[in-house]
Amino acid sequence: MDPIYRKKKITQTSVVGIAANVFLSAFKAAIGIFSGSVAIILDAVNNLTDALSSVITIIGVKLASKKPDDKHPFGHGRIEYFTTIIISLIVLGAGLSSMIESVKKIIHPELPNFNYTAIIIIVAAVIVKILLGAYVKRQGKKLNSDALIASGTDASFDAILSASTLISVIAAMFFDLSIDGILGAVISVFIIKAGFELLTEGIGNVLGGRADSETTKAIKQTINEMPNVLGSYDLILHNYGPDYAIGSVHIEIDDTISAAEIHKMTRNIQNTILDKFKIFLTVGVYAVDSAHKEDRDKINKTALTHEGVLGTHGIYFDEEEKLLSLDVVIDFSIKNKAEFCKTLQSEIKEICPDYNVVVNFDANYTD
Ligand SMILES: [Zn+2]
Repeated sequence: MDPIYRKKKITQTSVVGIAANVFLSAFKAAIGIFSGSVAIILDAVNNLTDALSSVITIIGVKLASKKPDDKHPFGHGRIEYFTTIIISLIVLGAGLSSMIESVKKIIHPELPNFNYTAIIIIVAAVIVKILLGAYVKRQGKKLNSDALIASGTDASFDAILSASTLISVIAAMFFDLSIDGILGAVISVFIIKAGFELLTEGIGNVLGGRADSETTKAIKQTINEMPNVLGSYDLILHNYGPDYAIGSVHIEIDDTISAAEIHKMTRNIQNTILDKFKIFLTVGVYAVDSAHKEDRDKINKTALTHEGVLGTHGIYFDEEEKLLSLDVVIDFSIKNKAEFCKTLQSEIKEICPDYNVVVNFDANYTD
């Protein structure tokens, strides 16, 4: 997706969010003035803070789109991760304050003061927030913006909280029951949970999460289909915001290919991946000789019998030094690497007794 288009769309979506909340506030204020209720007017003013997450989203994409500079050569895209964290804290705060209010109501139950004006306001709020929440979340998924998803979640929970007020009013009206405390507390638990999940996701992005599986598989497939490539491994991607990544990959090639040909090949791979995925890859090379194919297959098979081994590559027989080196891709379930290394070494030594065996472990950074 074009970053400029994405930024424009995220900003537009957030402007809709601000407009919807301003509209709701104005509607409440009008009713407040009309009915002469100071409480409703104050509530209308208070409602304006709901536009905050949209304002933060706009500021976030604006700052994130700043061009790279001397101090930040990878750009400013990661600012969007912080935006998401701030909005998730807003959701979390809303959940906590709603929980406190609800507990107060449970301790001191009060039948909600009912009138038609209040119902009109609540119904308007529920409708606006349901539509807004669904729209903003959908746009967030489409535009790969966690900030929008968080902002939309915030609006959806506002709708649910407002709806619960309505249910409480009805319960009070017809059954003389005061349930708004309990209902509010239950909903607050869900809001707090959602806030935590958004926060975890935001922090995960800052830490550097696993790259999107579909993308990494597509990148490897593209490379594997290129001429003279025997396989691609060790793909690593570093994100600097939702729409910028750089990384590296290793390819296996025949050991008779010349440096000039390798130069052309790796350039070709870089350009193809940059064109197709907008990702700059550094390409490293593993040489493969045709003489030891059978041994390589045996070694691969042996390694794969162990739990936690995902594959082998870069198996190279150095005839001068009598050295056999290989990379073994393992998942994060293998804790004692040193011990496992010894086991593998002795098993491989049985297959190729004339060589000293060196095992390197690769983590499975990408799918
Ligand atoms: Zn490797």
